[in-house]
Amino acid sequence: MDFDLLISGAGPAGLCLARALADTGLTIGLVEQQPREALENAAFDGREIAMTQRSASLMRELGLWQRIHDTDPAALSPLRDAKVLNGASPFSMMIGHTLTNRSELGWLVSNHLIRRAAFAEVDAAAKAHGRITLMTGQPITRVLSQGAAAAGSAPAAGSAGSAAGTGDMTEVLLADGTTHRARLLVAADSRFSPTRRAMGVGASIHDFGRTMLVCQMTHEVPHNHVAWEWFDYGQTLALLPMNDDPVTGEHRASTVLTLPHQRIEPLLTMDEEAFGEEMSRRYHGRLGKMKLTSTRHNYPLVGVMPHRLVARRFACVGDAAVGMHPVTAHGFNFGLLSVNTLADELRLAHASGKDIGSPDLLARYERRHMLATRPLYEVTRLIATLYTTEAAPAKLLRNAALHLGQRFTPFRKLVAASLTGSL
Ligand SMILES: Cc1cc2nc3c(=O)[nH]c(=O)nc-3n(C[C@H](O)[C@H](O)[C@H](O)COP(=O)(O)OP(=O)(O)OC[C@H]3O[C@@H](n4cnc5c(N)ncnc54)[C@H](O)[C@@H]3O)c2cc1C
Repeated sequence: MDFDLLISGAGPAGLCLARALADTGLTIGLVEQQPREALENAAFDGREIAMTQRSASLMRELGLWQRIHDTDPAALSPLRDAKVLNGASPFSMMIGHTLTNRSELGWLVSNHLIRRAAFAEVDAAAKAHGRITLMTGQPITRVLSQGAAAAGSAPAAGSAGSAAGTGDMTEVLLADGTTHRARLLVAADSRFSPTRRAMGVGASIHDFGRTMLVCQMTHEVPHNHVAWEWFDYGQTLALLPMNDDPVTGEHRASTVLTLPHQRIEPLLTMDEEAFGEEMSRRYHGRLGKMKLTSTRHNYPLVGVMPHRLVARRFACVGDAAVGMHPVTAHGFNFGLLSVNTLADELRLAHASGKDIGSPDLLARYERRHMLATRPLYEVTRLIATLYTTEAAPAKLLRNAALHLGQRFTPFRKLVAASLTGSL
C-alpha cells in the first residue's frame, strides 16, 4: 500500500504521532511487531511515568488524558514536589511547586495506561475515517529503498499535494512479505530502532552498567506527593508518589531501585514478604513497613543518542530520537515533544500543499528537537555517572553540589521549570 506517512512502532510515541495527525487528511500506516491484543490491553510494565505539565497538556489535546481519567480518576497522581538526597544524610535539596506558578510540578501515570489510551484513540480515529491503517503482529524487516528509488510513481491515495510532483517514496518490507511505500517513514521503534539502523543512521550508546527494578508498593509513612531521588551509597532509590488506594486508603508509591544487574536478579524472584522487608531496609525505614502490590520489572540502563534524527524521507521520534536515562524522568516527555514538533511541521506543509518529506522540513525538525534534548541528555549522563561514583572526592562533590543547589534558588527554579516542562 502507499501512504503519506508510515510509522514503525506503535509504542506511546508512534501512537501519539498517528493520533496527532489523524485529522489532517494525511494517510497513515502504523506498523507494530506486537499483536493487536498487546496494544489494546497493554500489560502493566512497572513504569510509572512522571510527566511535565506541558506533556499533560499535550495528552489532553490528544484525548488521552480524558480517556485515562474516565477509566480511573485515581490513575492520575499529582507530583507536588521533588527532593534529592545523597548517602545516609537526611539533608535534601527540595524542588517545590512553589518555585513555579502551578499547584504541582507534574503528574504520574502508569505507562500501560498511556499505551492503552493512545491505542484506543488511534483505533477510534481509524474506524471513524479510515485514513489510518494499523498493521500489527509483524515487524518491518527491511527498508527496500530510500526516497528516489520509487520515483515516477503516483502520489499516495488521498494525498494530493503532500509530495506534489516528486513521486519520491521510501519502501519497506514487512515480515508477512508485503511491501509498503510512504512519502515519509518515521521510526518510533524504541531506542535500539531497527529502522533507524536500516536507514544507516548511527548512534552513540552509553551503557551505565546498572539495572533498574520497578514495582508498586504500599508503605506506612505518607509521601505527601513528594517524589524522591535518593543517591544512596551502594544503591540508587527513587519513590514516585501515587494516589492513596481509593478502597483501603493505604499509601502507594512506585519504587525504583538501581543496582548492578547481578544484584537485581535475586530481588526479582525473592519471596514477596522478604522483598517487602528488604525494601523497607533499603529505604532505611523512612517509609515504615513496605509491601509489594504488583509484579516486579527490570530495565538495563542504556542511554542512546542518534547521530542524526533524519535522513532522506526519514525521521526518528520518541526513544528512537533520544534514549534517555530515566533518572531525570524525561524519556516520554521528550517523546511527546518530538511528536508535537514533527506533527506541527507536517501539518503546516500539508496544509500549504508542500512536500511532507522535504529536506528543509526534516532539517528544521532535527534542529529543533536536538536543541531541545541534547543539553539534558548530557546533563543526565553526568548526574547518573557522578552520583553512582563512590570514591572519596566524588562523595564530597556530590554532597557539596546538593547543598549549593539548595542555597541557590535560581538553580532550583531552573530544575522546577524543567520538571514542569516550561523551560
Ligand atoms: C524504568 C523506566 C522508567 C521511566 N520513567 C519515565 C518517566 O518517569 N518519565 C518519562 O518521561 N519517561 C520515562 N521513561 C521513558 C519512557 O518509558 C519511554 O521514553 C517511552 O516508553 C518510549 O516510547 P516509544 O514509543 O518511543 O518507544 P517504545 O515504548 O520502546 O515502543 C517502541 C515500539 O516499537 C515496536 N517495534 C520495535 N521494533 C519494531 C519493528 N521492526 N517493526 C515494528 N514495530 C517495532 C515495539 O514493539 C514497541 O511497541 C522510563 C523508562 C523506563 C525504562
